[in-house]
Amino acid sequence: MSEPSIAENLNMVLSQIHEAEKKSGRAENSVKLCAVSKFHPLESLVAAVDAGQMLFGENRVQEACEKFSTLSEMFAAENRKMPSLHIIGSLQSNKVRKALDYASCIQSVDRESLLVEIEKQCAKMDRTVEIYFELHTGEESKSGYSSVDGIFQSAENFEAGLYPHIVPAGLMTMAPFVDDEGEIRKSFQTLRLCREKLNERFPNLPIKELSMGMSGDFKIAIEEGSTMVRVGTAIFGHRDYSQGGK
Ligand SMILES: *Cc1c(COP(=O)(O)O)cnc(C)c1O
Repeated sequence: MSEPSIAENLNMVLSQIHEAEKKSGRAENSVKLCAVSKFHPLESLVAAVDAGQMLFGENRVQEACEKFSTLSEMFAAENRKMPSLHIIGSLQSNKVRKALDYASCIQSVDRESLLVEIEKQCAKMDRTVEIYFELHTGEESKSGYSSVDGIFQSAENFEAGLYPHIVPAGLMTMAPFVDDEGEIRKSFQTLRLCREKLNERFPNLPIKELSMGMSGDFKIAIEEGSTMVRVGTAIFGHRDYSQGGK
């Protein structure tokens, strides 16, 4: 039997998302799908767009911009609408400018200094960008703000008007890679609780999205309130890391 196609995988994931929405009493289509195409070639990304997917996540700026640059030339020639790009991997300040060429959202904001740089670059470009605060809730790589307090301090600065070119639109986390479902749930619950606290304390900030859930745990994430799942392997297959990176 041949491998299922990207379109087939995509439809499978979408129906699993809808099933999980139903099962947990969530409204239909309340959960968005961010297709994580990192380490996969442009052809895979195009196959997913052809199948209707219009939101992608990439974790390396260079790779993302190469693909989106080629894609934008292709699509301009064909008069097609470009999909959106979210950056989901840890971002060095010196890559912010380049990331903004194509990204409409940076989900992996993990420190105040990154916000300062994003604001500076967006002001220069006379544009705005969405960001999510990434909270470390247990995954071993330790990316993300290490505490809810850190996010509160950044939120204070938004409230004070320091970042007029940035829209704080949500929160993101990665659950730990463990078999213990309880531990995974706890991680997602921590993120949802963080949003509740932020919404209570900063009712004027539009912090709505909960970006949580990957190939192995997105059904659990939806049960715990996820509004966006980031799925790579279940759509594109396993990643080939032999080209470097992680
Ligand atoms: C790679 C990655 C994903 C997708 O992981 P899969 O297990 O392949 O679905 C999601 N979120 C982040 C932040 C990632 O780096």
